[in-house]
Amino acid sequence: MNKDQARGGAGGHASPSRDIVYADYQSAKPVDPRVVEAMLPFMTERFGNPSSLHGVGDEATAALDDARVRVARFVGAQPDEIVFTSGATEANNLALIGYCRRNRRKGDHVLISEAEHISILNIAKVLEKEGFRVTRVPLDLYGRVSPQKLRARIVDETILVSLGWASNEIGTVQPIEEIAAMLDGTGVALHTDAVAAAGLLPIDVGTVPIGLMTLSSNDIYGPRGLGALYVRKGVQVAPVLVGGGQERGLRSGSEDLAAIVGMAAAADIMVAEMPAEVARIKAIRDRLVERVLAEIPDSHLNGHPEQRLPNNAHFRFDGVEGEAMVLSLRDAGIAVATGSACSSKTLEPSHTLISCGLLHEEAHGSLEFTFGRFSREDDVERIMAALPPVIERLRALSPLYRAKA
Ligand code: PMP
Repeated sequence: MNKDQARGGAGGHASPSRDIVYADYQSAKPVDPRVVEAMLPFMTERFGNPSSLHGVGDEATAALDDARVRVARFVGAQPDEIVFTSGATEANNLALIGYCRRNRRKGDHVLISEAEHISILNIAKVLEKEGFRVTRVPLDLYGRVSPQKLRARIVDETILVSLGWASNEIGTVQPIEEIAAMLDGTGVALHTDAVAAAGLLPIDVGTVPIGLMTLSSNDIYGPRGLGALYVRKGVQVAPVLVGGGQERGLRSGSEDLAAIVGMAAAADIMVAEMPAEVARIKAIRDRLVERVLAEIPDSHLNGHPEQRLPNNAHFRFDGVEGEAMVLSLRDAGIAVATGSACSSKTLEPSHTLISCGLLHEEAHGSLEFTFGRFSREDDVERIMAALPPVIERLRALSPLYRAKA
C-alpha cells in the first residue's frame, strides 16, 4: 500500500466513500490501511498468548514488548509506564478510581473541570459514592481552565487533578504544561485524558510532569477497543479489573495482541508523519473557518480562537438547531456532529458549551467539524456548497431567527 492509496486514492479503502464528506473525525477514525496490514498476522499465524510458556507464547511476548516500546516512544514515556486497556474509557476508570482507591490515606479530594469527557464525569459520580469529594472547576468563555482558579481550589486533602488535554468537542487546548509544572512536587497527581490531543499536538511526558495520561488507539488511526494508560514511575494505582494479573497486575485479561500491535503501528506513523499531516489538516480547517465566518451571517466560532486543536472547527449559528443542521447536511452527503458522539443521543445541550457560559439555545445551535488524515481540500468546497442554503432554509422556518431579525 503506497501513501496515495492510504490517503484514499486509487485502490485505497481507508477513507469513507468519496460520495460523502466525512468531517466527524472526533467520533471515529478509519484504521490506517498500513495499521491493518501490521495487525493481520497477529490474528492468524502469530496468534499466540503472551502468557503461554511455549515458543508461540514467547513470540507473542516479544511482539507485546516491542509494541509497548513503540507506543511509549510516541509520548516520551518508558515502556514499563504503559498499561494497555480496552479503550480510553477503561483507562480513565483505572486512572481515577485506581489512583483514588490506592491513595485514599493521603486525602479524599479530587478536582476535575466541568467540561470533562462523559466518562470522567460519570467516574466522578462513582468516586463521590465511594466517599471522595469532587470539585468541578468552571471554564472561561473559551473553554479554558485557569491554572490560578484551579490552584485556589486545591486543599490539603486534594490528591488528584484530572483535566483533559484538549476538548474533544470544542477543541480548546488546556494549559496542561503550566498546570503540570504548578502541581509538580506538591503531592497532587495530575491525570490528563489526552485522547483528543494525541496525534494533533506534540505530547512528551519526558518534559511535562504528568502522573497519569489516557490514550486511545482509534484516535491515532489504530483499531477501536484499545487504549492505554501512561502511569509515571512511582505513581501508585490499584487495579480496577482483577484476574490473571496481566499488565503488571494493573489490567487483567488476555491482551488483544493484534490490536496492540495495531496501536504501535499507528503510533509509529504518527511519529514519522505528524508534523506534515497536522499542517495539512490545519490548512483545511482554517479555510473552513475563514469561509464560514465570512459567508454565513450570524455565525460564530466556539472555543478558543488560537488555543484549539488544529483539526477542529466548532460553530454556532444564531436561530438554528444543531440536530436539524446535522440531518439536513446528512441528506447533502456531509457527515458532521453537533458535539461529542458519546453524548449525542441525549437531548441535553452540551455541558461544555453551557460551562463556557452559552445560553441553552446558543448551545443547541452548534455544529462541530473535525478533519483528519483522509480529509481533502475540496471537502471545504463541498461543505460550503451545502451549508449556507441549509442554514438559510432552517432560519426561514425558525421563529427564533425571525424574532431576532
Ligand atoms: N475520552 C475522550 C476525550 C474521548 O473523546 C473518548 C471517545 N472517543 C473517550 C475518552 C472514550 O473512548 P472509548 O469510547 O474508546 O473508550
